[in-house]
Amino acid sequence: MEDYIPISYLNDFIFCPRSIYFHGLYSCFDKSMYSQAPQLRGESAHKSIDTKTYSDKKDILQDFEVYSDKYKLFGKIDIFDLKSKKLIERKREIKHIYDGYIFQIYAHYFCLTEMDFDVKYLALYDLIHNKTYPVLLPSKNKIMLEKFEKLVDDIQNYSLQANFTSTQEKCENCIYSNLCDISIC
Ligand code: SF4
Repeated sequence: MEDYIPISYLNDFIFCPRSIYFHGLYSCFDKSMYSQAPQLRGESAHKSIDTKTYSDKKDILQDFEVYSDKYKLFGKIDIFDLKSKKLIERKREIKHIYDGYIFQIYAHYFCLTEMDFDVKYLALYDLIHNKTYPVLLPSKNKIMLEKFEKLVDDIQNYSLQANFTSTQEKCENCIYSNLCDISIC
């Protein structure tokens, strides 16, 4: 793997390690060429951030690029309220709080703190149900922190040649199934 990992790889890698190769391969193409409906709906949740329409307040950091030298990660945070010191990751709908959601906000947290921002609170926000889910800081959840660090390490050391067996359910829901040579659907 390259030295710095896009934060978006964390969730992809949990879904299927091989998918990060297709993600990297096709990131330079128009996303509409290979994205499917769930991905496009998720992206629309971030549209107001990407177009800077969420807030004009000076104490809201949005569409902000972050990186971590320690974990070799980079990406963009969703919303950071400088006043309340709360970092928020918005999702279109939250049916279950997957580990990937937690690791994504951890990654944003580590990037921001490494860049000297004082982050005190983390939260996931469900846009459809207007519901907020507080997330413990990594220092308050050692098990998830260890899992996060193992995930980053696994991605850094992953080889496409490693033995891997997918499931039909995953391949059927994978946006790269038409491109993947071991897809089983
Ligand atoms: S098609 Fe299946 S094996 Fe290939 S990347 Fe997607 S989930 Fe993984």
